[in-house]
Amino acid sequence: MLILMSDPYRDPDRPCPSCKAPLRAFRARFVCDACEGMLAPLADLSAAIEDITGVVPSFDYVDEAPGKRPCPLCAAPMTAFKLRIHLDDELAKPPPQLDRCAQHGIWFDTDELAAVFEKARAKHPGGGGAISKTRDPVGTAGSWSGDRKGPFWFGGGHGNY
Ligand SMILES: [Zn+2]
Ligand SMILES: [Zn+2]
Repeated sequence: MLILMSDPYRDPDRPCPSCKAPLRAFRARFVCDACEGMLAPLADLSAAIEDITGVVPSFDYVDEAPGKRPCPLCAAPMTAFKLRIHLDDELAKPPPQLDRCAQHGIWFDTDELAAVFEKARAKHPGGGGAISKTRDPVGTAGSWSGDRKGPFWFGGGHGNY
């Protein structure tokens, strides 16, 4: 019997590393609508943090170790690490341990991205991004995945949003 390449019952091409649901491409990112995880390129993360804090961040990876989960795009094992964000003289140390693929960016579980944004903002709250301080950080991450309001960093006072 002939087996064709596209079997609809097979795993999707881009399974969420957390819950195995298929990821949805959103600009340069891949988001999971089921668990709200997200794979984001470092350049995108940098742009978002710049918008939050008003300074261009640089990153360090610390505590690197072989990760257990595969990259959803290339299936290579991701590297577990902790992110350190340099913002001018400040150093933000978001608590979550993240996973990254050298080629495809950083995987954030549901609350991890919000934790990173929150930590960066707490260290250097000088950005022009359209973030309401009264909103919880999960709302911020939701915006980032393009769910409802569009990516907040397109605003910044000069967008057409
Ligand atoms: Zn998921
Ligand atoms: Zn990859």
